[in-house]
Amino acid sequence: MTGPGSEAQDGEVEARGRVVLVTGGSRGIGLACARWFLAQGDRVAVTSRSGAAESDVDAGIGQFWSLTCDVTDPEQVDAAFSAIEEAWGPVEVLVANAGVTRDTLVLRMSEEAWSEVIDTNLTAVFRVAKRALTKMIRLHRGRVIMMSSVGAFVGSAGQANYAASKAGLVGMARSMAREVASRSITVNVVAPGLVETNMLAALGEERTTQFRAQVPLGRVARPEEVAEAVGFLASAGAGYITGVVLPVDGGLAMGL
Ligand code: NDP
Repeated sequence: MTGPGSEAQDGEVEARGRVVLVTGGSRGIGLACARWFLAQGDRVAVTSRSGAAESDVDAGIGQFWSLTCDVTDPEQVDAAFSAIEEAWGPVEVLVANAGVTRDTLVLRMSEEAWSEVIDTNLTAVFRVAKRALTKMIRLHRGRVIMMSSVGAFVGSAGQANYAASKAGLVGMARSMAREVASRSITVNVVAPGLVETNMLAALGEERTTQFRAQVPLGRVARPEEVAEAVGFLASAGAGYITGVVLPVDGGLAMGL
């Protein structure tokens, strides 16, 4: 197992045993990502407001660490990073996945509903990425993967706040990617389409059916299919990929 103090050269990413942090890892896509990294032999911490993952122990592949951390609270974010660094060393792979929706049409959208979504989905990603990059820069390696959405590109009625937050991630990721590239750190974005999680369930059956009809592959994704894309961007094989947006959407937004 490698990690803090490993012998990796600048830009090299160890294939196994890395310190991985997945925000919003208690369920859904984040939990699938946590399981993916755990199965690789990485040391995986997940954060959420509840602090309790659906399952902390996965049969056969070990255990990950669940921390309580509301990403909208700078002190909680710093405390979570500090705890991980003390126990395992610096975070080498950050999956900034925590996200929320507060859907309603623009004319009914309160400033508070706007701010809550922007704070969680955009500002908090800036916060956790900045905190992770501080240490990655010293390590001369690291991977940051931000969870956007197909909604960033196609828009979605009732989701002006959500789509704005997810589109904002793209410009932020590309700016960060340019800033840290000289340290062999990559910053990329994954843009899922419809994924079978609580968040999709909240969309309601009627809207889900409407959206599904527009997906060339004709079905929603399993969270594990998004985790595979995240895992790839964090892998040694993706060392020359930075500033990209990788859609995992069954073809929903192809060409955009
Ligand atoms: P879920 O609602 O199933 O999971 C969201 C996760 O984020 C939970 O672990 C939740 O835990 C955590 N979370 C929410 N708010 C905070 C917060 N303030 N601080 C810390 N953790 C928080 O959603 P999904 O798994 O579906 O979504 C994961 C990501 O993927 C999101 O960014 C979402 O926008 C994106 N996405 C999802 C799609 C889908 O179809 N499902 C499509 C495109 C993108 P807790 O509530 O305990 O805090």
